[in-house]
Amino acid sequence: MTERIPCIREGCANTILPATAARTGGYCMPCKQEMEREERQRYIEANRRDVNLYAGITDPVKF
Ligand SMILES: [Zn+2]
Repeated sequence: MTERIPCIREGCANTILPATAARTGGYCMPCKQEMEREERQRYIEANRRDVNLYAGITDPVKF
């Protein structure tokens, strides 16, 4: 019998297998995927901000 453990993310009611928890750091797969997506989005936005910084220099009319 495999005991399932609750996802550690606040407000998430999903339960996961210990093997999954070991892979994801305690999160269920939907949470894990959502976090990865958010992280990628943050990364993209951070890079975009750099680009905008240059854009502001070469194109000050935009702001
Ligand atoms: Zn979860």
